[in-house]
Formats: sequence, C-alpha cells, structure tokens
Amino acid sequence: MSERQKFYKTSNWEKLSKAYAKSVNYLCERCAKKGILKTGYIVHHKEHLTDSNYTDPNISLNWDNLEYLCMECHNQEHTGKYDKVVWDDNGNIVRVERKEKEI
Ligand SMILES: [Zn+2]
Ligand SMILES: [Zn+2]
Repeated sequence: MSERQKFYKTSNWEKLSKAYAKSVNYLCERCAKKGILKTGYIVHHKEHLTDSNYTDPNISLNWDNLEYLCMECHNQEHTGKYDKVVWDDNGNIVRVERKEKEI
C-alpha cells in the first residue's frame, strides 16, 4: 500500500469524510443539484489527491475541497469517457470496463 493509500485509512480522514457525508444527508451532491435524490458512496476531493498533495491538509482535509458523490458521478468525474469503473476501498481504480452500447 502506498503512503497515499494509507491516507484513506487515517482516523482524521475517516472522521472528516463521515462527518461530511452526514452533512449532505448521504446524498450525491451532483444528482441533488439535478433534483435527483440518490445515495452517494464516496467523499471525493474536488482538487484530486495526488502523491504530491495528499500530505497538504489544506487539500486532503479541507472541508471545502470535498464533495459527496454517487458511483456514476464519481466515475464520470475521474474518467469521463468510461462507463464503468471499479474502485477499491482506498479510492483507487481497480479496473475500467467499457459498457456495451445499448441499442
Ligand atoms: Zn450522482
Ligand atoms: Zn474522486
């Protein structure tokens, strides 16, 4: 596990992310803006965490840099073009699958 992955296991992050999800009533913020009430599943960093910025609490632990998202919105944010992305518990992409085009 990389140092950055360990960040997601720290009690600071767990406390912050749980409190954040609760503050938005566990609803995906992007869907809510469209009037869709959908349960979110991950606290996303608006400024994406990288190996060089995860140690900066102004980014990694900044309430204003967080967004609670459902799987679809989160996938779209990180990959855009892909339909399905599988994440592990540390917020890393495990695999990316292209969904068959629906006719
Ligand atoms: Zn959503
Ligand atoms: Zn994210």
